[in-house]
Amino acid sequence: MNLFPEVRTQCVIVGGGPAGMMTGYLLARAGVDVAVLEKHSDFNRDFRGDTIHPSTLELMHELGLLDEFLKLPHQEFSRLRGIFNGHIAGIANFSRLPTHCKFIGFMPQWDFLNFFAGKAKAFPSFALHMQHEVVDLIIEGDRVVGVRAKTPDGERNFRAALVIGADGRYAITHTRAGFEIQELGVPIDVLWMHISRRGGDPEQLFGFFRHGKLLVLINRDQYYQAGFVIPKGGIETAKERGLPALHKEIVALAPFLKDRISELDDWSKIKLLTVQVNRLKTWCREGLLCIGDSAHAMSPAGGVGINLALQDAVATANLLAAKLKRGPVSVADMTQVQRRREWPTRLIQAMQAFIHRNVVTGRESKSDDSCPFLIRLLQWFPALQSLPARFVGIGPRPEHIQSPTIH
Ligand SMILES: Cc1cc2nc3c(=O)[nH]c(=O)nc-3n(C[C@H](O)[C@H](O)[C@H](O)COP(=O)(O)OP(=O)(O)OC[C@H]3O[C@@H](n4cnc5c(N)ncnc54)[C@H](O)[C@@H]3O)c2cc1C
Repeated sequence: MNLFPEVRTQCVIVGGGPAGMMTGYLLARAGVDVAVLEKHSDFNRDFRGDTIHPSTLELMHELGLLDEFLKLPHQEFSRLRGIFNGHIAGIANFSRLPTHCKFIGFMPQWDFLNFFAGKAKAFPSFALHMQHEVVDLIIEGDRVVGVRAKTPDGERNFRAALVIGADGRYAITHTRAGFEIQELGVPIDVLWMHISRRGGDPEQLFGFFRHGKLLVLINRDQYYQAGFVIPKGGIETAKERGLPALHKEIVALAPFLKDRISELDDWSKIKLLTVQVNRLKTWCREGLLCIGDSAHAMSPAGGVGINLALQDAVATANLLAAKLKRGPVSVADMTQVQRRREWPTRLIQAMQAFIHRNVVTGRESKSDDSCPFLIRLLQWFPALQSLPARFVGIGPRPEHIQSPTIH
């Protein structure tokens, strides 16, 4: 039963992740009436990925927000290193990128999203509705004309000239719209957990690779947000083998964790994150456009999904903001967004598939203890470390802010 009067606005964005918040900010900045609906009550969740890419910082610079943003607690790395079968090796060097910030930043994603929420709220045409879970699209004839959301006080309809689906990899928008999804298949899942940090732990090490296995440690000051890659569907096998076997596997990758690995004394402390890589054949239909993971779910491989989601947001605002301010946008207008962002997506997903096949499979491989050839090449010719830095830090076809501003 609807307790509230229907809300009418120019654009409804489903999902307050990187894609949704950036699009909401940019459209409101252009004077479009926009409502972002986020199903959770806050942004404080651990599973999102904490990378702030040089291209994102460049966008902040273009928006005049960079100095203020960099005052938030964060870490800056101009180089990324990993441990490959016991060998410490440089992977990416950001110091020569043609961007204002020549580093990759690490910041809890809730700080990033809260920052954007704060900035967006300064625009009178912006509204953020937390605890609003979209449960269906409203479709009239062939056109999506709004969404139905579940709120703590009952259901509420939002009608809009455009609905943007930025609701991530389990999107209700693309499911209800009947979009065809091309699954690309992924051989891995990720176990996600906290492990405490102690004085004397190695600095700046990020990825621990060994014989197809990978442990990622994200420094969150008091603790590590740890991601351990397992074969797809391997959680049941891991549980059968038991926690001591899992402890052993993790410590084999990062021996300095031996003195605290027993903190993981119950499976409730270990979350399974199912990894997907897929993309929609068509990102839009009358009244609806999907972007970010909703249009193309990304694996954590390479740490590039957030960047891609933000670039989609910028392209969407660049191409649609001015038109949307005047009235509804056509399928042809929205198709331009897909055309612009589809090949960067395909390229990055191909790179992720390569990593899944050759570097991180989640399965114990029979390789020897040498450093993989590609990584050795990066040590012999350090200048080559600018290439992965460019791919991860900027990505193919970087977008720049071109959408109008009312200020
Ligand atoms: C384990 C793991 C680790 C990763 N690590 C990294 C990393 O380090 N760096 C990187 O760049 N990428 C990483 N990625 C990929 C990255 O998380 C995604 O590509 C990126 O978050 C996509 O952003 P998005 O805004 O499109 O979607 P999301 O970040 O998924 O945001 C979607 C939002 O929509 C909300 N929502 C969903 N359904 C509804 C609904 N029905 N109603 C209202 N709201 C809804 C969700 O609560 C969420 O806030 C990782 C992925 C995984 C699985």
